[in-house]
Amino acid sequence: MRRLNPAHPKTILHFLSKNILRGSGGAQPPASLRTLDIFQNAVIWCIMHIDTDIAIVGGGPNGMTLALALQRCGLNSVIVDQLALSTQSAPEFDGRGYALSLTSVRLLKALGLWAEVQDAAQPMLGIRVSDGRIDTGPSPFAMEFDHAEIEEGPMGHMLEDRQLRPALIKAVRDSNSITYLEKTTVLTQDVSAGAVDLTTDTGTTVSARLLIGADGRRSQVAQRAGIRKTGWSYDQTALVCAVQHDLPHNGIAHQYFLPSGPLAILPLPENRSSIVWTETTKNARAIMALNEADYLDVIRPRFGEFLGKISLVGHRYSYPLDITIASEFVQPRLALIGDAAHGVHPIAGQGLNAGYKDIAALAHVLEDAKMRGEDIGALNTLSRYQEWRRFDVQTLGFATDTFNKIFSNDRPLLRMGRDLGLGLVNKMPALRRAFIREAAGLSGDLPRLMQ
Ligand SMILES: Cc1cc2nc3c(=O)[nH]c(=O)nc-3n(C[C@H](O)[C@H](O)[C@H](O)COP(=O)(O)OP(=O)(O)OC[C@H]3O[C@@H](n4cnc5c(N)ncnc54)[C@H](O)[C@@H]3O)c2cc1C
Repeated sequence: MRRLNPAHPKTILHFLSKNILRGSGGAQPPASLRTLDIFQNAVIWCIMHIDTDIAIVGGGPNGMTLALALQRCGLNSVIVDQLALSTQSAPEFDGRGYALSLTSVRLLKALGLWAEVQDAAQPMLGIRVSDGRIDTGPSPFAMEFDHAEIEEGPMGHMLEDRQLRPALIKAVRDSNSITYLEKTTVLTQDVSAGAVDLTTDTGTTVSARLLIGADGRRSQVAQRAGIRKTGWSYDQTALVCAVQHDLPHNGIAHQYFLPSGPLAILPLPENRSSIVWTETTKNARAIMALNEADYLDVIRPRFGEFLGKISLVGHRYSYPLDITIASEFVQPRLALIGDAAHGVHPIAGQGLNAGYKDIAALAHVLEDAKMRGEDIGALNTLSRYQEWRRFDVQTLGFATDTFNKIFSNDRPLLRMGRDLGLGLVNKMPALRRAFIREAAGLSGDLPRLMQ
């Protein structure tokens, strides 16, 4: 990996090369500077101006995984991220544990990453979904999904961000076809007939055949391209932490619907579980302000006794929740992936899985286009990616939004209806199997990297 530091003197030389040596609009440099030999000038330009196949703005989990998938198709990329790599690789950077679907695991295997993280991953052998109240505990009506109902294996694995991210960073560092520009923000993006040109706050410029927005829910790539987003805030915040418990979880994930929002208890290796606990933003603020002992006192009655005594492990985190879906995922020379295209409620643990499907589908489309000698940035190439992904993503957005609305309240009639619904689905093996296949990511047309 080539890694450029914006504080480096080359940045200053680049400024000279762009603004003085090269002049503007092709003007000659001033006579006093013409003495710098042409070779030096060319070297300066090569270092600070990068020509690449694909420029990826956003080096989070989706951006890095995409770069690694593109490398497999013989495409070079440059990742631009505003954060330092050392910030992202710190173990306390992000407290999330991802419920990675079976097809996301297949993607990581295809990219040679799974071997790096497998020992830290916990197979998910079952999911139990139930309704409840803090005072009365879980309702007797529940949906139970067992991985044995599908032949492909565990429906997914739990993997903590602090395990996934360093593995991605290492693979990106080891790659000769990926350049990572850390601590760098894109200032402008200009699309022309054959290329997209980026300027950045460090002075480095990038020309690519295709620009990818992987810069998260507030994607500036999408904003600069004038892509509208539909979305709203939930006035909910997810409280995230890990707990140690006395009793084994047996690989079962629990989704427990409380009036203020869902509580997910997700199995991690060694009698630990990752908690994603949704509260109204006002409650969440007050809960985050508590000390550890009081925080645990608030969790305990929600959690119940089924895992024995619990204690906190590591930091506590909070993530404000909203939904944002881009009106279009592609334009000429531009595509959005991951949260930049669709940020959804974590109620179903599907956000990164949806991003991973984007990556596998986009890599599939671009690899085919490259083999056929087509332009990888042309709108008709990119439209195939959009067609593949948009319906799936809109369905996910609708489903997570509806589930959250139906389950995050305490209206008696609705409560009765949803208990009945959970009980009914549980009694229908075909429907239950369909849910398991959906959670495993097996529904729909699978891109090559997920087959
Ligand atoms: C509480 C919670 C639990 C979740 N659990 C699950 C789960 O179990 N399973 C699952 O599949 N998904 C889950 N998700 C969703 C998942 O976390 C996200 O979908 C995923 O992290 C999105 O990754 P990303 O790379 O697209 O975006 P981000 O992680 O937001 O990364 C964007 C990157 O872009 C960079 N960036 C932003 N703006 C700029 C800019 N202007 N210039 C340069 N760089 C920029 C940022 O620094 C960042 O590195 C959960 C989400 C939440 C909130």
